[in-house]
Amino acid sequence: MVLYTVTGHVGEAGYLDIANSGDLTGKNIYVNMTNRCPCNCVFCLRQTKKMMEGNSLWLKEGEPSVDRVMDLFAPYDLSVINELIFCGYGEPLERVADVCEVIDRLKSKYPDLKVRVNTNGLANLVHGRDITPELAGRFDTVSISLNAPDAEEFLALTRSKFGIGSFEALQEFAVLAKRHVPNVVMTVVEKVMSEEKIELCRKLCNDLGVTLRVRPFES
Ligand code: SF4
Repeated sequence: MVLYTVTGHVGEAGYLDIANSGDLTGKNIYVNMTNRCPCNCVFCLRQTKKMMEGNSLWLKEGEPSVDRVMDLFAPYDLSVINELIFCGYGEPLERVADVCEVIDRLKSKYPDLKVRVNTNGLANLVHGRDITPELAGRFDTVSISLNAPDAEEFLALTRSKFGIGSFEALQEFAVLAKRHVPNVVMTVVEKVMSEEKIELCRKLCNDLGVTLRVRPFES
């Protein structure tokens, strides 16, 4: 499933193909373009057999081309939606060039389209260069999963293939992204993290000059 909406239900019922989402007025539309990710988070089911076989967000037929994504958008009027969000069970910025091309093509038709990416903040490590200038004029919001208040805990949770330096790279990514994107936020999940640790994350975000968003826990 490449284009979907979120229903608020937990698990599979939480995601609805855009084709079954009815009137899109005021809704957020999610774009899922890759299964690739440099992390293997302990809370992410994307690598499990069950996920690969049964989950609708696993791209069983591989990554859709830019043309394919545009074909999927074609029947819909995006002028009525709230926000377009690059997300899914993979890191969207693994395909930064393709994601940017999709946005450029959509914005040529819908110049006021609001666009966000939900990211792990490790794209500069993935690509070996600073990709944040490419976000300019394309994204309104970059939302980075912070997950932890320090490098050790971050690595233990995400099992990033880039190792202990990942946490610092994520912070650097946030600061660089601020130069090019109006809203840069970091997220943690309430209840998963203690109040004490959330406060540490809040301080870290304050020091970086970005907003912390505490997301509600979905069991
Ligand atoms: S960064 Fe996101 S997609 Fe990647 S393993 Fe973690 S939760 Fe899953």
